[in-house]
Amino acid sequence: MNTSSKRTGANLGWSTADALDLYRTDAWGKGYFGINDLGHVVVRPHGNPSQEIDLFEVVQGLAARDLATPVVIRFSDILANRLRQLSEAFASAISENDYRNRYAAVFPIKVNQQRLVVEEVFRYGREFGFGLEVGSKPELLAVMSITENSPDRLVICNGFKDESYIEAVILATKLGRTIIPVVENFEEIHLILKQARLHEVRPRIGVRVKLASEGAGRWRESAGEKSKFGLFITEILNLHALLAQHDMLDCLQLVHCHTGSQLQDIRRVKDPINELAHVYAELKSMGAGLQYIDIGGGLGVDYDGSGTNYESSMNYTLNEYASDVVYRIKSVCDARRVPHPMLISESGRAIAAHHSVLVFDVPGRSQLDQMRISNGGSDEAVDRDALPAPVRDLYDSFRTVSERRLVECYHDAFQAREQALQMFNLGYLNLEFRGLAERLFWGTCAKIRDLCRKLDEIPEELADLEVMLSDTYFCNISIFQSLPDSWAIGQLFPIMPIHRLNERPTRNAVLADITCDSDGKIDRFVHPRETKRTLEVHDLVAGERYYLAAFLVGAYQETLGDLHNLFGDTHVVHIRLHDEGGWWIEEIVKGDTANRVLEYMEYDTDELSPRLARDCERAVREGRISLAQSQAFKRFYETELDGYAYLEGD
Ligand code: PLP
Repeated sequence: MNTSSKRTGANLGWSTADALDLYRTDAWGKGYFGINDLGHVVVRPHGNPSQEIDLFEVVQGLAARDLATPVVIRFSDILANRLRQLSEAFASAISENDYRNRYAAVFPIKVNQQRLVVEEVFRYGREFGFGLEVGSKPELLAVMSITENSPDRLVICNGFKDESYIEAVILATKLGRTIIPVVENFEEIHLILKQARLHEVRPRIGVRVKLASEGAGRWRESAGEKSKFGLFITEILNLHALLAQHDMLDCLQLVHCHTGSQLQDIRRVKDPINELAHVYAELKSMGAGLQYIDIGGGLGVDYDGSGTNYESSMNYTLNEYASDVVYRIKSVCDARRVPHPMLISESGRAIAAHHSVLVFDVPGRSQLDQMRISNGGSDEAVDRDALPAPVRDLYDSFRTVSERRLVECYHDAFQAREQALQMFNLGYLNLEFRGLAERLFWGTCAKIRDLCRKLDEIPEELADLEVMLSDTYFCNISIFQSLPDSWAIGQLFPIMPIHRLNERPTRNAVLADITCDSDGKIDRFVHPRETKRTLEVHDLVAGERYYLAAFLVGAYQETLGDLHNLFGDTHVVHIRLHDEGGWWIEEIVKGDTANRVLEYMEYDTDELSPRLARDCERAVREGRISLAQSQAFKRFYETELDGYAYLEGD
């Protein structure tokens, strides 16, 4: 039977609508992702089905250009769309609330510092007057060049600052930039005053407020009185007095807070903003030249599509967020009779996450439930009487599994396997019997699991069988490099196949990466209520590549990734919609070669080949290999040094 007819048989009653439902694509995709009739994932950069890009077609197109998976595909049009949505949400909240000032986002470049991404954000943000945020001196140096000739675009400078960081800010002010250093600890104000005096500049100054309102979400410690950032109210009063003393109160232009990333609960957004607005109103009434309220980042991403306050989700929409921010600040300002400030947010995740997709292939798998021994003995003829006692017990359990005895059979098999292992460890069971015991145990479990699937309610003792028996799909990625938050903080990312979606997935799998680290695996997947411990995948077909993708990976993953096992950066491409339909490749950034990652580790790559060549010459001289073999070996070594660090397949 050929593979396509095999597939058709299994697919009765299955359609791409079922795949959409199973992988919850509509829920987390927010209109950017869908599935076409070919069963391929499609990308809709404007949320509009009339303009869509077939992701599988893109992956094949890249392979034809020698850009094999793994690859990060950035859809620049999604980035542009995210910025537009943010601008529109605030514009409509501003108009609905009759707010008398405007809004601008400043993109925190730490979320994705890759030059191409920052440049795109800056380019697409121009029409909305958006700016950039930096958190360190190197980030500032990068942004100073990107914002060339853009005097009106805001640059907000957060993070701990030394004198040269502050000097760079002051010089940029002198160049005409709208740049605001935010005082994060009190000493910084002295450096600002010193540098301003030296360069004869009247700087704009911001201050980060240590709010009493607690932060929220996983990064809740970014706010609150114990946070490592910001000034206590007492220090802010001292700062106010110091500026008044220098006749520089007009320079204090911005108050800032950041209550944590991935704020999942809208209620935790309101309190800190309310408190910050009161600080603004007080300082304004005390003569500060305040013009801006900066509410920091934190706008969430609904990674699992559940719309709840679960940590990988958020229980509010972008419009609700904008509305709440505008309404709260306006209410306080009106009550305190102070002017409405310009609103700034430092949303990073919500801007960058959606536009990147990590696509990877699955070069192999392991399948426990394939160890089954058929009852008819066609796999192996088993002579029951010749079996040692625990193996015989396992054999009996295997043969007698029935719907009525599920739990009993499982316990019997479990116990018999324990005994078999003990006997092996004491030297009383040979390797052959131990192998048979292993197959019988898993075969029994597989039979029990198959019967459980027909039950309305699965006995508690057997609830884990599905996970125990799931396949492991080996994925051509390093989780430490490409999905570090999945490993470090258990962040959920939606993952699904990008093709064969008109075919019913028949296997359940956990995903393991190709690093030699048992932590390099993913065994939690999106689900509307809890998390799923296995992912529904298709059976692998010999000779065909199988592709999965992790979505919403544009925020934080690329820069937090590490070089575990020397798997470096993957290839990255920027794909754009074409005006006349279809797609085109705007940028290609080739992934790391073995040479490059070795260089990162301080290997002298000029020395690698000569060293090997010397060994080859030695081997030729001693007659261990021929000259032709030596030449082939040297060529092979050099090609591999220049090759992709990931598995390249055939
Ligand atoms: N602003 C500051 C000061 C931050 O520390 C962060 C990140 O933690 C952000 C903005 C971006 O936050 P998010 O990506 O959650 O919007």
